[in-house]
Amino acid sequence: MIYRARVVVTMDGPPIENGAVAISENRIDDVGSFGEIKACNSGEIVDLGEQALLPGLINAHCHLDYTCLRGKIPPSKSFTDWIRAINLAKARLSEEDYVASIKEGFAQAKRFGTTTIANLTAYPELVEKIDEPIRTWWFAELIDIRSPDRANEIIDLAMESMKSKKNWGLGPHALFTASPNLFRHCEEIARRENILLTTHLAESREEMSMFRDGSGPLYEFIKETGRPMDDCGDETPLEKFIGALTSAPLGAGSGRALSQKWMIAHLNELSESDFDLLARSTGKFHVVHSPRSHGYFAHSPFPFERLRALGFHICLGTDSLASNENLSLFAEMRAFQRNEPNVSPREIFEMVTVNAARALSQQNALGRIRPGFHVDLTSIPCTGSNNLFEEIVAFDQASTIWIDGKRV
Ligand SMILES: [Zn+2]
Repeated sequence: MIYRARVVVTMDGPPIENGAVAISENRIDDVGSFGEIKACNSGEIVDLGEQALLPGLINAHCHLDYTCLRGKIPPSKSFTDWIRAINLAKARLSEEDYVASIKEGFAQAKRFGTTTIANLTAYPELVEKIDEPIRTWWFAELIDIRSPDRANEIIDLAMESMKSKKNWGLGPHALFTASPNLFRHCEEIARRENILLTTHLAESREEMSMFRDGSGPLYEFIKETGRPMDDCGDETPLEKFIGALTSAPLGAGSGRALSQKWMIAHLNELSESDFDLLARSTGKFHVVHSPRSHGYFAHSPFPFERLRALGFHICLGTDSLASNENLSLFAEMRAFQRNEPNVSPREIFEMVTVNAARALSQQNALGRIRPGFHVDLTSIPCTGSNNLFEEIVAFDQASTIWIDGKRV
């Protein structure tokens, strides 16, 4: 089959005017100008008309569990107050509410042209009740704050549920809720099972003051849970994270090997010593930024330029609707653009395609329109303006999406 569109955005070179994509079942066979593709490929021709055909958008961080909490928690000056509020809201939700919430989230993500999602779930036991309509990496969000001696058991239970899914990973929630032991075990399992990992790191000023200074509202709140706080008051969250996963002393001048298996959400709070540590490190983890959730919490400015200069690839995610208004990656790109007006719209679009595919270890299958890749595509109306990428970023609802060759 051949799809012809006014323009095809491959992310390999400039957009192709009057372009076409030849597909067989779920793989892309060929892409180029309509003339070339028609001459070299057989099959039914479907003219999509005045549309831009794009690689499907990839949401690199979200929690569909909380879709139903949209608008329920007003923004607050304190990250700790938000945690208290979401804990209260969660206590009122039933298993059925969560399943409905996840399904509603999938439907919404689809409408906004998302074809792949990295979804953290706090309830791994529910995933087998859900048939995901788009390509999904399920991450079991793990917390052992009240029972650090049960870290292995908590991981084993989650893994049992996650194995019903094709694509899954593990997500120790954050340094303040998951023990170093849990982080280390997850990394060992990731190496053994070849799965991905994710966590929330250096998100808020309150997290920084908890670990570096041993004080502040998050410190006080977490202390009430009974978590031993003797690891607070010396290192930044990033130092703590890297220290938990490597055994050599942090002061050593040699670089640390950072595992590419990690998708690290946030990194808003980094000290100068953190940047030195990142500069000395070998290997790179992937960084996920959620511009609108970041704005909701009024976190410190995201250090995009400095992380990019160090060679980190940045992806975008929506985070959950407990701190965002919808699951549109287009709106996320616009929010990023408002904060970073000097970054080109093309580079911003890479954050929801090429970079996110790389973070999911799918750089040879997703994020571009290229022969051999999955047929995961999004089409949007196209007016033919001079700056196509500007037009893409300004857009919202998708016309059509294809997952694995099927229109959904
Ligand atoms: Zn999150």
